[in-house]
Amino acid sequence: MNNSLLDLLEEYSNALVRLLDEEESINYFQIKNYWYSVTNKLYVYTIKNKCDNIFPLTLDKQLELITTPINDWGIELVDDYLNKPLLEKKNNNYELTELAIDLSKNYNCEATEPLSELQRFILENNLNSKLYTEVRKKLIKYPVIKDNSKLIWDIREELSALVDDNIEMFLELKFNSPEIMSFFTSFYQDAPLGYNDFMDQKIYRCPYCNYPLRVIKQDSKRDFKCLHRKCLKRGGGRDEIRAEKVNKKDLFYVLQEEVAYYVTIPGIPELKLYDKLKGIKDNYKLEVELYPEADKADLLIEFEDQNWAIDVKDWAYPYKLSETLNKEDDFLKGLDYDLGFLVVPNDVEEKDLNIIEAQWNQSAEYEVLRVEDVIELVKAERGGEINEG
Ligand SMILES: [Zn+2]
Repeated sequence: MNNSLLDLLEEYSNALVRLLDEEESINYFQIKNYWYSVTNKLYVYTIKNKCDNIFPLTLDKQLELITTPINDWGIELVDDYLNKPLLEKKNNNYELTELAIDLSKNYNCEATEPLSELQRFILENNLNSKLYTEVRKKLIKYPVIKDNSKLIWDIREELSALVDDNIEMFLELKFNSPEIMSFFTSFYQDAPLGYNDFMDQKIYRCPYCNYPLRVIKQDSKRDFKCLHRKCLKRGGGRDEIRAEKVNKKDLFYVLQEEVAYYVTIPGIPELKLYDKLKGIKDNYKLEVELYPEADKADLLIEFEDQNWAIDVKDWAYPYKLSETLNKEDDFLKGLDYDLGFLVVPNDVEEKDLNIIEAQWNQSAEYEVLRVEDVIELVKAERGGEINEG
C-alpha cells in the first residue's frame, strides 16, 4: 500500500463521482462499499502521516470537509491547482466541482493496466503492434462473451496466431501464464450478477455500447442505465434496448466496468471511423491502420502521396477536453504524418467544437472534426479522379 496522497485523492474523487451519480442504481451497495474502502485508505493515510486532521469515516463529516479547499483539510498538499473543494453546495444540493471530475478522470484505472503493460512492452522492444490492436478491438466489440461459445474459440484462435516467443515470454513473466486467453479474459469478470434481472432471467443490452444495462427499480417501475450518461441517447433511446434471455447456469464473461468505460465506450467512434474508412479504401486509394505503433494515434490513413493521423477523443464532459489536451504534450507525437486531426463523436455540438478550438493551445496545428466530417473531407479532398461505387 504505497499510495501517494494524490493517488488517494483521485481514487476518492472517483468513488465520490460514482456515489453522487448513481444514487438510484441497483449497484449502490457496491459503489458505497467502494467509497468506504477509499475512505478507509484516506483515514489510515492521515493517521500514519500524523496529519492535523484525521479523515472522517462518515459521509456527513466528509461533506463538511470536502466542501472546503483541499489545503484546509489539514493534510498538507502544496499545489495551487488542487486547492479547491470537491463539492459545492448549490440550492441545497451538492454538486461535484470540476476538480473532483478532473481527479476522478485521472484516477489510475487498474483494470486497464495490463493493456498499458502490453503496449509498453511492444514499444520498448520494437515489436509488431498487431496483437495490441486486436486485443483492444475485441474489448470494444465484445463487452459480453458467453463461455464456451464459438466466439470465444474464434478469439482464442485469432489472438494466439499473433503471439510470438517475445510476447509469450512477456505473458509468462508478467501474468504467470504464456496463454493469451488468460491475459485477455483478465479484463472480464464472471457472470454479470449486479446487472442480471434474475427474476425474469434476462440481461438488457445497451443499444450503443452493448454493455449490460443496470436495471433500476423504483416502486413498480423499471429504468435502465448504462455506464456513460450519453449511451442510451446515442443508441436511439429506450425503444432500442434488447432483452436477452439467459439461463442461470450460463457462464458469461462481462467486461469490468472500468474497462468498458475507458476502452469500450470511447473506442466506439474509433472503430466506427475505421470501418467507414475501410469501406471507401478502394475508391479513394487509401490504407487505414488502427492504433498504429501501439496507439501513437487512433488511426493512420495512408494515401499514395501523404499520411493523415487521427486521434479520436470521447469525453463525458467535453469542456474538459481542451484542458486535458493542454496538459499532454504527446498528441500524435512520434508518428510520420502530413495532416493531424482531433476527432470527436458525431453528437458533439458546434459550440463544444468552438470551445475546443478556442482553448486548446495546439489547435492551430490540427483540424478538429466530427467522425462524419472526416469521411466528407476524404471524399472532398481526395475524390478528384474517383467515382464512388
Ligand atoms: Zn452503453
